[in-house]
Amino acid sequence: MFDRPLKILLVSSEVVPFAKTGGLADVAGSLPKALATVGNDNLGNDVRVAMPHYKGIEKATYRMDFPVFFNSRAETAIIRESTIEAYYQGEHRIIPVYLVDNHHYFYRDGMYMFPDEAERFTFFCRAVLEMLPRLNWQPDIIHCNDWQTGPIPFFLKVRYAQDPFYNRMATVFTIHNLQYQGNFPKETLKLLGVGEEYFTPELLEFYGTVSYMKMGILYADVINTVSKTYAAEIQRPELGERMDGLLRKRSHDLYGIVNGINYHEFNPKTDPRIHRNYDHESIENKKENKYALQKEMNLPVRDVPVLGMISRLVDQKGLDLIAQIADRLLSHDVQFVVLGSGDRRYENMFRDIHNRYPEKAGVYIGFNAILAQRIYAGADMFLMPSRFEPCGLGQLIAMRYGTIPIVRATGGLADTVHDFNPATGSGNGFVFSEYEGDALYHAIQRALSLYTEHPHEWKMLIKRAMELDFSWARSAVEYLQLYQEALSRHLARAKTA
Ligand code: ADP
Repeated sequence: MFDRPLKILLVSSEVVPFAKTGGLADVAGSLPKALATVGNDNLGNDVRVAMPHYKGIEKATYRMDFPVFFNSRAETAIIRESTIEAYYQGEHRIIPVYLVDNHHYFYRDGMYMFPDEAERFTFFCRAVLEMLPRLNWQPDIIHCNDWQTGPIPFFLKVRYAQDPFYNRMATVFTIHNLQYQGNFPKETLKLLGVGEEYFTPELLEFYGTVSYMKMGILYADVINTVSKTYAAEIQRPELGERMDGLLRKRSHDLYGIVNGINYHEFNPKTDPRIHRNYDHESIENKKENKYALQKEMNLPVRDVPVLGMISRLVDQKGLDLIAQIADRLLSHDVQFVVLGSGDRRYENMFRDIHNRYPEKAGVYIGFNAILAQRIYAGADMFLMPSRFEPCGLGQLIAMRYGTIPIVRATGGLADTVHDFNPATGSGNGFVFSEYEGDALYHAIQRALSLYTEHPHEWKMLIKRAMELDFSWARSAVEYLQLYQEALSRHLARAKTA
């Protein structure tokens, strides 16, 4: 694909296994592994990762420290180093991870939602860029993710544009969720080291604030998001979060690449967290995971269809649709297992469903990665009725475990789940479009009747879902093409500048 391996720095505010609050961390932990081993006749690329060093991260060794001058003072950046190891299709690679530490900014309980977020992440971005000459390492590509990294493309274009060490670096900015934008007061300009002339709607101003998401979108060489459908949806007002106009302006630089999942970690054949391992040729063993799950959730151990749900409990996830249909759903001979945490009102909603149907609804409020695997393995169907979903990992993991997704046709759900067609037998799940309880209910009904009335076809559906390829290998190749695109656009713009 290329005549030489690329040097790629991926920058993210969270990376598995060091820190995780959501899907971003999974992506930031998995994509580098795939990039390190694909492309260029499998010689791999020189991939490295940068993230903050939060409290609780262990086993990182001191590498260097230096002052970062910003906001009229110097703050010390301590760079610690750890590694991610990639075993991928027979290849073994070590990926350096640079952890930016500063006791004041990052030694706190929790990762986000502090009053000085702008200052913390501006510092982080500056420190990442200032670290590079000290490492004597010049990446070809800096791959930024979400608003916390928005200042990097901005700094490269504005602050470091004339610096020969930096001016060949191209940037990719990935939007994992446009709803979280990092919008801060006007005074934030000072942290960025620019004057009021940047506070215009054409530049950094976003409805009276300085928007870090906008900064990334405006200044990166190419932008992408985590599915093609979401890339199209965010250019329209309904899901554009007031940035649709800006995104339409950059639509020729905006791409969609669906996330993969780690096929090594998420493998029902070897997963040590589940009760009984199985694969697409031993689907009958999946049932033992259902019985184990029922036992664990204090539900009657019976051969009934089990619907699972694992989700952050926030508006995005379509939980009001569940509220609309809970009684109708649980009037059937089914069981419903929910794992999630988030907004209090949804936590209470699920507790209430459990209290009313203790024999049918098992509810675990909290974060539990082991139980999550047991639900993926033990359930028959997996619900994701999201209002919007940039990519969604749940449906991909569910399919890998032969659990049939029932999803709303939005974002990455629309790109990865295709409605079962009884006439042709095609499809890998059940899909509905209208954001209405009835539409969800009818999709579930179709799934239940296939399950109970046509077990042979149901088994074929499981087999097909398990055989699909949502591994990172595929998406990593698309990312390499995107990096190439970013490099050539960067070069072309530099020439005309
Ligand atoms: P989002 O990033 O919007 O939360 P995704 O579907 O992209 O949604 O990723 C969510 C990931 O987090 C999935 O791997 C899912 O299994 C996991 N997850 C969500 N909630 C929980 C929970 N309460 N306990 C364990 N894992 C969870």
